[in-house]
Amino acid sequence: MQAGRPTGPLVQGYEVIIGFETHTQLTTQSKIFSRASTAFGAEPNTQASAVDFALPGALPVMNKGAVQRAIEFGLAVNAHIAEHSVFARKNYFYPDLPKGYQISQFEIPVVQGGSVDFFLDGKPCSVRLVRAHLEEDAGKSLHEDFIGMSGIDLNRAGTPLLEIVTEPDMRSSAEAVAYAKELHKIVTWIGICDGNMQEGSFRCDANVSVRKPGEPLGTRREIKNLNSFRFMQQAIDYEVRWQIAQIEDGHAIQQATVLFDPDTGETRSMRTKEDAADYRYFPDPDLPPLVIARDWVEKTRAEMSELPRVMAARFVKDYGLPEYDAGQLTQSKATAAYFETVAALSKQPKLASNWVMGEISRRLNGENLDIEQVPVTAPQLASVISHIASGTISNNGAKQIFDLLWHDPKIKTLVAGSFEEMNANTSALIEAQGLKQMSDTGELEKIIDDVLAANAKNVEEVKAGNAKAMNALVGQAMKATKGKANPAQVNELLKKKLG
Ligand code: ADP
Ligand code: MG
Repeated sequence: MQAGRPTGPLVQGYEVIIGFETHTQLTTQSKIFSRASTAFGAEPNTQASAVDFALPGALPVMNKGAVQRAIEFGLAVNAHIAEHSVFARKNYFYPDLPKGYQISQFEIPVVQGGSVDFFLDGKPCSVRLVRAHLEEDAGKSLHEDFIGMSGIDLNRAGTPLLEIVTEPDMRSSAEAVAYAKELHKIVTWIGICDGNMQEGSFRCDANVSVRKPGEPLGTRREIKNLNSFRFMQQAIDYEVRWQIAQIEDGHAIQQATVLFDPDTGETRSMRTKEDAADYRYFPDPDLPPLVIARDWVEKTRAEMSELPRVMAARFVKDYGLPEYDAGQLTQSKATAAYFETVAALSKQPKLASNWVMGEISRRLNGENLDIEQVPVTAPQLASVISHIASGTISNNGAKQIFDLLWHDPKIKTLVAGSFEEMNANTSALIEAQGLKQMSDTGELEKIIDDVLAANAKNVEEVKAGNAKAMNALVGQAMKATKGKANPAQVNELLKKKLG
């Protein structure tokens, strides 16, 4: 399975091997086998039906929307969508699972194969998927310490999950986090999962082992329920160090399921891992095999929107953007749409990219806003950028105008109308703020002549080959124009005049 993969970066002489199992909660309104609502945060047990309570005689009925989402995922990762897949009972005893088994898929999952492709430090990576299968979530135990009792909330029971399983293809915690981020981007982009990690809509289990290069795979330990990218990296790094220390001390690694404790930064064992045999899987007699007609798959394929990596490739090709920019701009559909509007209106794709990745994302982060809440509209930014491109305003001046648009609601309503009207309003605003660059070369030349006359010493030094003296002259000229000259133009004129 690992043949042909290059050896990964070594940690204390060991190669790190990681495989992921990710539970994504699907965005259906109702549960996978019942009509109860999947909404988050309701009073305990108000969103559980007879099926979710496992009352005798209650039978599961497949939710078509969950299957639809599995098909969309399979297409997004170039997987095979099984024509015929089977639901199985995974038997175990736990208070939050009243049936005594979880309905899942075992031998024949709905999504088979496929891959998740992304860049890590500019290098392309491809993580192969083994499968993605549909299953139901369990309920929750609530430990009410104040009354010394535990309760069971079955609101989550029966929530549809798609569990996505990779080959053990990742070779570092950084690659694992990059994979998880890319997967998160795909499922939220196609809209099958809301991606809310705090609410548990996207939970990753990281299987980690280490080996000396060239040796067979080592024994893995599985870190359960990582629900933040930061913890993911910390947990894997800790686990790798722990396993290496164990082996160096002469201990064998025992297969186990572990939990990461963010407070201590350590992983600790929950239980030794069950084998598949312990679950006594067998096909669920209450559910017929899931049959997906090919025309359903083809109809879904035809209706799916452009995927992020396809869009990124188009940005590189059509706008001549670096791959890095294209990757950043396709972090979310809304960001990509914002960028495309700015690029189309301003006809300045690289400037548009710089502003979206720079000023916009810096301010959104700083104010904890989403791109959907950005105060400056895409046409407004395009208008500002057009004025940079035409030389009307410097980059710094543009930042001041941008700042006004961001913070001042009155100014924001002034810069409105069709794009032509908006441009006219932006020009007027630039003028009113005294930020218009001097484009009249005659006027600028006169100022430069004055500067040369007043700084004879610097002129001598420039003629003697002193570059610093040149900077001093540029500075003087900028000062004389109150910063309104275009520095590149000043430089050019000075060079011309000084020969
Ligand atoms: P199980 O059925 O016990 O969960 P799987 O074979 O399905 O085991 O593997 C679960 C996950 O563990 C997969 O993502 C797989 O890539 C990963 N994995 C398997 N072996 C190793 C290993 N030696 N080191 C790291 N990850 C592994
Ligand atoms: Mg598994």
